[in-house]
Amino acid sequence: MGAAYTLKKRGFTPILLEAEDHVGGRLAADEVDGFLVDTGVDFFCYSYDAVFRICEELDVPLVRSRQTLGWHRNGRWLVTTAEPSISGIIRNLSAFRGLGLLSRGGMKLVWQVFRQPDYLTFASDSRMAEIDGDESFGGYLARIGAPESLQVTLRGFVENGVLDYVAPSSQAYIRGYLANTFLRPHQLMQPEKGAGALARALRDACADVIRISTPVREVVVGERGATGVVIDGETIEADAVICAVPAPKALEIIPNLPVGVRETLRKVTYSSACRLVMGLDKPPLPPGWHGAIYPEDETPLVLDRSINLPGCVPPGKSTLDLIAGRERAKQLLELDDEEIKGEMLRDVRRNAPPGSAIPGDHEGLFSRVYRWRIAVCKGPPGMFRAVANTRRELGRDVPNLFLAGDYTRVPLVNGALASGISAAEETVALFASSG
Ligand SMILES: Cc1cc2nc3c(=O)[nH]c(=O)nc-3n(C[C@H](O)[C@H](O)[C@H](O)COP(=O)(O)OP(=O)(O)OC[C@H]3O[C@@H](n4cnc5c(N)ncnc54)[C@H](O)[C@@H]3O)c2cc1C
Repeated sequence: MGAAYTLKKRGFTPILLEAEDHVGGRLAADEVDGFLVDTGVDFFCYSYDAVFRICEELDVPLVRSRQTLGWHRNGRWLVTTAEPSISGIIRNLSAFRGLGLLSRGGMKLVWQVFRQPDYLTFASDSRMAEIDGDESFGGYLARIGAPESLQVTLRGFVENGVLDYVAPSSQAYIRGYLANTFLRPHQLMQPEKGAGALARALRDACADVIRISTPVREVVVGERGATGVVIDGETIEADAVICAVPAPKALEIIPNLPVGVRETLRKVTYSSACRLVMGLDKPPLPPGWHGAIYPEDETPLVLDRSINLPGCVPPGKSTLDLIAGRERAKQLLELDDEEIKGEMLRDVRRNAPPGSAIPGDHEGLFSRVYRWRIAVCKGPPGMFRAVANTRRELGRDVPNLFLAGDYTRVPLVNGALASGISAAEETVALFASSG
């Protein structure tokens, strides 16, 4: 949608073909009985640029995320807040100690993260690919001598946040993730009406060029480059094609990709995630808590988004938002919706923070289950560098075919949007150069 929006602004009329009956992909939201329910994306990081620019252009108001998180550690609850003040930092000190951040390894990590702002940013011009190499995040933690307590915290934070097992991911990527989220919780932003507000705004801006329920079966690439796309019952000729689907899907629908590009795309892997959202009459967590994190086990991440985003719920209502990743997500994805609901609620009830009101299986105003077999890109070591080279290789061999989508940049929503915008700009430049 970022590509279609940009092309339209430049005076072109693209066709956006979407397989599902709605656009937005992992940024899409549902509307259920007055609740705005984000199905994938939750927050935007301080270094996002394309996202903030488009939000401004399309009048999508943003608010700062107020995070008061409970961390379940060694059978106790540590509570951290995102207050940027001195008193907030002092208040968090004992929690930071419990999370291992004040250890030698912890201080080293914080120092090494803040020392490399140009490389660990999620902005469109991030230089992350330059410091991506063979080293995994697990290898990095061992190298800096991170104590076990810190390793558990970081694994729990990032893995609970649906990134799957992080030890095998690129050290650059996970350090970037920490720099943008864990170490800057007070700078996380959210659209007032949930992340899906951005998808809705883009959808409305591109409504006249969108064809939903139209899966692309093949992108046709011949000797002269990309010539069109095959949909059910029709081949649509095209002067240029921007393919903005996750890497495994791109491999499926573009059989004639150059060999080197195919090899790179095979390196791109994703986590799975399973999300249960319930509408409630009362807050499920202790007063003021936005979420509960379980770094030591597979209990889902628990969020009450009405604390952060009251504009997403009808007055006086709350939500219980449970997100499971790792092996637990893979197990849950095999079950039907009712079974998933029962299992996830049971997991949380087992260790709910004192003062919580986790609903029973048959309580709640509504419930929805969202399954993500392709959730967040895992970014194995070397992927970022290889993908950056791919852009050059494709530009040389098939200049009118552009790959966009999160995995082609830093793979979160800013990367996805920035990649679409820049594919559109390159398309415009190509047309200009060929008259
Ligand atoms: C649970 C969850 C939480 C997340 N949290 C965050 C977060 O807090 N912050 C953040 O920045 N990011 C987050 N992400 C990641 C973020 O959602 C993605 O990085 C980003 O939305 C990816 O956008 P995309 O356009 O590359 O891919 P997608 O959103 O996957 O879009 C691809 C689109 O292509 C369509 N498509 C696929 N195949 C075809 C075909 N053959 N023909 C036509 N259409 C096709 C799909 O239906 C889809 O609409 C989260 C993701 C998940 C799942």
